[in-house]
Amino acid sequence: MIDPFGRTVSYLRVSVTDRCDFRCVYCMAEDMSFLPKAELLSLEEMERLCATFIRMGVKKLRLTGGEPLVRRNVMSLIEGLGQYLGHGLEELTLTTNGAQLARHAQGLVAAGVRRVNVSLDTLDERRFAAITRWGRLAQVLAGIEAAQAAGLAVKINMVALKGMNDDEFDAMLAWCGQRGFDLCLIETMPMGEVTHREETHLPLAGVRRALARSWTLSPDDYNSGGPARYVTVAETGRRLGFITPLSHNFCESCNRVRLTCTGTLYMCLGQEDAVDLRKPLRAGTGDAGLEAAIRQGIAAKPEGHDFAIGRVAVARHMSVTGG
Ligand code: SAM
Ligand code: SF4
Repeated sequence: MIDPFGRTVSYLRVSVTDRCDFRCVYCMAEDMSFLPKAELLSLEEMERLCATFIRMGVKKLRLTGGEPLVRRNVMSLIEGLGQYLGHGLEELTLTTNGAQLARHAQGLVAAGVRRVNVSLDTLDERRFAAITRWGRLAQVLAGIEAAQAAGLAVKINMVALKGMNDDEFDAMLAWCGQRGFDLCLIETMPMGEVTHREETHLPLAGVRRALARSWTLSPDDYNSGGPARYVTVAETGRRLGFITPLSHNFCESCNRVRLTCTGTLYMCLGQEDAVDLRKPLRAGTGDAGLEAAIRQGIAAKPEGHDFAIGRVAVARHMSVTGG
């Protein structure tokens, strides 16, 4: 699958549910309303869609959400997708808030998952409760420990929030280094209406300069085809990534598209371009209609996003498109 700008699309991110057991302040409103269950694709439908994408050239699948591990029976989907590893699919992974990881870590490994991204914005219990509203730090730390014990490589995602965790970057980098985790810092993106986003937005350029005073950061060529730019931290030997959607244009190397839990394929996190795959999926006309709809989507992949803080670029929340 090659888009009009010559980029090969080989990475599909799938939001398996828009629901979540947390209500992180930058991601959701506390009284979020979710999609009616009847609108969701079944897990079997999701697997069939993913299989179609794999046939068409997708090599990497990431399950996300919402919180992927709160979708009922999600392990059956993960086990099903694991069967494609080595048969077109090269990597199956997920992004999770970690709260349910202790229960699922071993099952994930058994299904063929080797790496997970876990979101952790602070190591302070009270702050964690304030940022996630409903989360408990101890539960997430236990999940991370279980993941590591099961043999999963862990990358920590930390959203940088002015006035909320901006004095913790050194501590988080040290904590990750001790445990052998890579760390990725993320700037807030204007997706969906939530309160206080402008006050908490923190450009990462300054964070990087401050970290460089205490750590030896050397540029790293590692490129996942995604928005992160990496450095290696000499003192820990681990990678540190910066995702700066507002201050750095990463679109030219974008290799991904995103599927929502209702079967809509979005070509860009920050644009509205989309095609509906649920209709062709349910049309009962075999895979030809589905493949044609996917091709139509790829042909409409926009050149880049259009984010700017202070303006909500897209009304849909990150949890719908899958962060
Ligand atoms: N629930 C899972 C989790 O928290 O990892 C997966 C979905 S979550 C939407 C994926 C990632 O997006 C998380 O690392 C989260 O911190 C980040 N995120 C959510 N809303 C964001 C926003 N408005 N700006 C930047 N990052 C955001
Ligand atoms: Fe849930 Fe992840 Fe959004 Fe937090 S960032 S509310 S854990 S989907």
